[in-house]
Amino acid sequence: MIHQYRLNGYSIVLDVNSGAVHVVDEIVYDLLEKLVPPLQEECPEEAVRALEEKYKREDVLAAYEEIMELYQAELLFSADDYEQYAGMMVASPIKAMCLHVAHDCNLRCKYCFASTGDFGGGRKLLDAQTGKKAIDFLLKYSHGRKNIELDFFGGEPLMNFDVVKAVVEYARSKEEEYGKNFRFTITTNGILLDDEKISYINREMSNVVLSIDGRKEVNDLLRPAPNGKGSYDVIVPNYQRLVEKRLENEEDRWQYYVRGTFTKHNLDFAKDVMHLNELGFDQISIEPVVSEEYQEYAITEKDLPRIFEEYETLAKQMIERKKAGTGFNFFHFMIDLNQGPCAIKRLRGCGCGNEYVAVTPDGDVYPCHQFVGMEDWKMGSVHDLSVDLKKKDYFAKANVYTKEECKNCWAKFYCSGGCNANSYQYAGDIHKAHHISCELEKKRLECAIMIKAAMAGEE
Ligand code: SF4
Ligand code: SF4
Ligand code: SF4
Repeated sequence: MIHQYRLNGYSIVLDVNSGAVHVVDEIVYDLLEKLVPPLQEECPEEAVRALEEKYKREDVLAAYEEIMELYQAELLFSADDYEQYAGMMVASPIKAMCLHVAHDCNLRCKYCFASTGDFGGGRKLLDAQTGKKAIDFLLKYSHGRKNIELDFFGGEPLMNFDVVKAVVEYARSKEEEYGKNFRFTITTNGILLDDEKISYINREMSNVVLSIDGRKEVNDLLRPAPNGKGSYDVIVPNYQRLVEKRLENEEDRWQYYVRGTFTKHNLDFAKDVMHLNELGFDQISIEPVVSEEYQEYAITEKDLPRIFEEYETLAKQMIERKKAGTGFNFFHFMIDLNQGPCAIKRLRGCGCGNEYVAVTPDGDVYPCHQFVGMEDWKMGSVHDLSVDLKKKDYFAKANVYTKEECKNCWAKFYCSGGCNANSYQYAGDIHKAHHISCELEKKRLECAIMIKAAMAGEE
């Protein structure tokens, strides 16, 4: 399978199974559109005839030779060697956890998937004892894994910072005995950041996710406090202080990002990305809101052309900045064309419900934070260190070859079958694709590959 497209003056051909990317000239591009594998030694006469008004016969034949060379080197229309791995998908150790330290929040974001922090189950905080049991749970189920990821999440985790510290201390106290290495992340809305918390976070957390949507008017429209006041003026200086201090530590150079959401209200979100960069941040992620269509901020099918245009604008601006030496990372345009993730990860993606789980303040275990509160998906408890192995296996086996739409999708090895939670909530089944998310994912990939093409030889 190949995927070919034109973007920003480049004619790009991705050979899906080998992962090879070719920037080709017009004639090769046009000829490829006429070819159906398996290719024969001779260029098909109907392809030559179809192009004879535009190109000379000998030029088409020369282009075919070029194509044949790539074909014989298995860099075009290459065979799918991955399907054999699909049957090997077995349950893995649990190596990552999203720990819900607080089902409470000091903001009232309008698009909050967590019902403004409480996940629909009442406002509550995790107690230290349950937090420690969550660590015990990880120690029990991460067998064979040295590195364990723990994300302190909410609601707003800074509302329960003492418990965060108690859990970190407990986990560290177990590292040597169990031969583990914990890597902590905290995801915060920034309201309660102060110098003491910043210094603790920069010392203990390998990664920090700072939520902000971009320009003041954009952020404040959908991320207000309970009294209706916007959050921008409080969080921006807090984030700037945190990042400035963090960058003093070279080792952690890349380990933070500012993360936002775009909605129907800011389809010109490239401006928000640029704004965040101008505020001094160079690790940026802005994601499309995923919600029911009736929400006034929802992204619908009709918005897709406008969003595609915006991704292209952003990609072009990023190339300019990179070339000028003032580049930044936009997470959705980051792609590794050389190595990529291992085969299993390419096929299965985020690992939710299998390698990764979420734990609530009550100690309940769910496949990931987006499943929290859906009683049917509860899959255990840290209190009795239990996990439903059938559910775990169900997630372990879900991969791009068990998802009908993904099997034949050119983006499958980068997208890895999309977000199971979104598929379940908005398409009704983790094995179904959520159309709008797919279209956006594919557009981002096209932009990411084009950026690589544009930067080839410059990085
Ligand atoms: S900060 Fe996060 S948890 Fe709190 S209301 Fe906003 S989106 Fe929801
Ligand atoms: S873009 Fe959609 S169809 Fe393609 S692999 Fe991802 S989830 Fe599957
Ligand atoms: S299912 Fe979706 S929300 Fe849950 S961890 Fe995976 S990508 Fe994230």
